[in-house]
Amino acid sequence: MAEPVIDFHLHVQPWDTLKPEVQASWRKTQKNFAELERVMKDPGYFLGMLDRAGVEKACLVNYPSPDVMGFDEGVNDFVVTYCKAAPDRLIPVGGIHPRLCKRPKEEMRRILDLGIRMLKIHGPHQGVMPNAYLDGNTILPAIYEACQVARIPVMFHTGTSVFPGARSRFGDPLGVEDVAVDFPGLPLVLAHVGRPFWTEQAFFLARRFPQVHVDLSSIPPRSLLKFIPRLEEIADKALFGTDWPAPGVPGIRENVEAFRGIQISEDAKRKILYDNARRLLAA
Ligand SMILES: [Zn+2]
Repeated sequence: MAEPVIDFHLHVQPWDTLKPEVQASWRKTQKNFAELERVMKDPGYFLGMLDRAGVEKACLVNYPSPDVMGFDEGVNDFVVTYCKAAPDRLIPVGGIHPRLCKRPKEEMRRILDLGIRMLKIHGPHQGVMPNAYLDGNTILPAIYEACQVARIPVMFHTGTSVFPGARSRFGDPLGVEDVAVDFPGLPLVLAHVGRPFWTEQAFFLARRFPQVHVDLSSIPPRSLLKFIPRLEEIADKALFGTDWPAPGVPGIRENVEAFRGIQISEDAKRKILYDNARRLLAA
């Protein structure tokens, strides 16, 4: 039997709240749009997909982004309810808006009590740098402090985004360096390792700070070593993820198989596919 897999980064989201123009762009890029719509409503169907892909657990990444994607803070209730279909396999990831949330301390308490197990901050879709608290943002410290106390990881989108309205400059991983310095007890994840042009910065941060991890999602596995030639040096800090159903991702199973074929040690593969995620999520 193949070794177990955790997909640390994929998107099951409340698609009925997508902005019409974002939905139109999904319809154009995804020929299986109807199947995806079903996944977003039917956890049983989705679990069958994970079974066929050999994936034991998955992190369902959500975040409010009313102006770019259309999602509001209801994403937290959506994802927690969805994951109740299989609490041992589906891990709800949510967030509050780091620029717009009106009552951040209360809302953080609410979503952690609800069962959110990781926070996501998407700078390019939320219009904020991870270190904007240095310039007076008071919502980000409420997020970081609550997560630090609860030992819940915060995941940042790092790298570009090409959704209409996205601003990629907020995806610079070096914005996370201040967070790592100022909140040393907070586990951090740099999603997408800063791809395509900030991978060196992300690699540097993962090596410098014990609490900084990277997720490898959205880089095609066959190109991973081109982007991160020294991947094995951070084999204890890297997490496998697919970013499915993002355009360009052939499928969860296809990406797992492609990752198993890359030229790194079997030991490093096992850590990246499973052990590191399990430890970080205490799952
Ligand atoms: Zn993603």
